[in-house]
Amino acid sequence: MKSKQKEFAVSMVRLGQLKGQVLRLLLALAVVTGCRRAKESTPEPEIVKTKTGIEMAAIPGGWFEMGSKDGAPDEKPVHKVWISPFLMDRFEVIQEEFRKYQLPDPSHFKGPKQPLEQINWTDAALYCNERSKAEGLEPCYDEQTWQCSFQANGYRLPTEAEWEYACRAGAGTKYSFGNNVRDLNAHAWFAETAAGKTHPVGQKKPNPWGLYDMHGNVAEWCNDFYSLDYYKQSQQKNPTGPTKGKERVLRGGAWNSSADACRSSYRASDPSIDDTCLASDAIGFRCVRNATTNPSPQQNVDKNDPPQDAPKTGFIYDDIYLEHKTTPDHPEKPARLTAIVDKLKATGLYARLLTLSPKPADVQWITTIHSQQYVEHVRKSCREGAAYLDSMDTPISEKSYDVALAAAGGVFCAIDAVIESKVTNAFCAVRPPGHHAMSDRAMGFCLFNNVAIGTRYIQKKHDLHKILIVDWDVHHGNGTQAAFYDDPSVLYFSVHQYPFYPGTGSQAEKGSGKGLNCTINVPLPAGSTDADYLRAFKDKLEPTALAFSPDFVLISAGFDAHEDDLLGGMRVTAEGFAKLTRIVKQIAEKCCRGRLVSVLEGGYHLEALAASVEAHIHVLME
Ligand SMILES: [Zn+2]
Repeated sequence: MKSKQKEFAVSMVRLGQLKGQVLRLLLALAVVTGCRRAKESTPEPEIVKTKTGIEMAAIPGGWFEMGSKDGAPDEKPVHKVWISPFLMDRFEVIQEEFRKYQLPDPSHFKGPKQPLEQINWTDAALYCNERSKAEGLEPCYDEQTWQCSFQANGYRLPTEAEWEYACRAGAGTKYSFGNNVRDLNAHAWFAETAAGKTHPVGQKKPNPWGLYDMHGNVAEWCNDFYSLDYYKQSQQKNPTGPTKGKERVLRGGAWNSSADACRSSYRASDPSIDDTCLASDAIGFRCVRNATTNPSPQQNVDKNDPPQDAPKTGFIYDDIYLEHKTTPDHPEKPARLTAIVDKLKATGLYARLLTLSPKPADVQWITTIHSQQYVEHVRKSCREGAAYLDSMDTPISEKSYDVALAAAGGVFCAIDAVIESKVTNAFCAVRPPGHHAMSDRAMGFCLFNNVAIGTRYIQKKHDLHKILIVDWDVHHGNGTQAAFYDDPSVLYFSVHQYPFYPGTGSQAEKGSGKGLNCTINVPLPAGSTDADYLRAFKDKLEPTALAFSPDFVLISAGFDAHEDDLLGGMRVTAEGFAKLTRIVKQIAEKCCRGRLVSVLEGGYHLEALAASVEAHIHVLME
């Protein structure tokens, strides 16, 4: 931990201060015209003003994944944590605020709107108590032992978990705004931007929950003692850190930090000694307090507890998917989805799912797999009222282009929900299907390759590299295979009837170049049963997938291998699909904390389809 301490415990040679003062004055003026909140899709917490006039964000309770699997050893393992609702200061505590309580301002870089720094942990706790008293709240800290009472309604320092949860603001990425370090300039005063000093708070962009300077400016004290391996035994609900320790946790990075030290999951620490002279001018803090529960007779009991039956599985559906019209008697028809939804409602499963509505995918994502010309061809053909796209088996209607964008968008929505830990896994009841769609042409009822596009979305948007695609549709997913044939970051596994439409998928097709052996085809003869499928999954999929160790698992879930299906010639049952689901789910659990999104492909016998999806979702929810 020594090197981390250095990030903050810098004893700067204090030169250039005069020159700095002029700049600081200008910056202090600039705070008035500071940047406005960026528009974000995440619901923004309510902003409240305390009795003493401080703005706080009412942070909603929720689950999140704490830590980082790519970070330092003390950031591992990534683990799921529940945080009860709380209020958090939108800004780091500033010097003029601190001085209100006749507390001596220890700051090195002076300025009324600049963050307080050179503050030791106990003086930060003392300020929390003073502010509590000023507002008639019960102080949290015992001023002899500095023990924190988490039951008290006054101000305190955030727990490390509260801090990271608030910093992430729903994002599973390195920073609250994503993974791109170049965007850090807009959000943080850090080594590259801060010119060797702190800056008035609130000048950079806030995070999606309206909190400023969570990255950079000054590192922030947390209430917890620091321990390198705390995450190995951290409790799941509102963890408060080890009971003993010498150092306290610091979070968020500071004006003298590297970009890496500004990451949401980055942990640092410093001795919590009382000697202010030894405190670093890169350390400050902000306060939190418990959200007051409104005592409504039904709700007050467990309001701060994790929901007892929190939905584990997301379900993506929207009526827009019914607007892709095919020809009369075409097997790929809107009734497929209504049959699924009706079945889930009838069995009571629907109420236990987190239902999510999609937004249309941005064309920039579609073109990660398809050519610009093809996308334009789909759009024009639909707008001009063409009856088919590229071949007679793929009928389209006026809205098919928009529906296809919403199908890919539905997959994105599921991926986001899984990565943000809103759910563990999700099923996308979308159409048109996708796995036959090639980069430059439609095929086999498919317009855009939802799963292939979803794969690129996970890699580029969420920075997860290795993706496993399991395709158990009765047909070979030729489009998906082609998209990743020479790509070692994607393991594509397909079991399918062979020889059969579309003709590809022999065992000899194994990938090429760097992607050699990253395509696995298991062609099975017509009439294959649950047992044949299970053998393929156990013998061919499981060992390779575990060795590959994906960061995310996608299923091209076609249910046309069902024994009653109209197109396929296989004899798989709904129970068989449940067993296949269990195998894939276990792979996801072993390799990537269960991150799995399943996307509907084929399945044309309405009752068989609905029963198979029900069995599939049942296992996802276990
Ligand atoms: Zn199929």
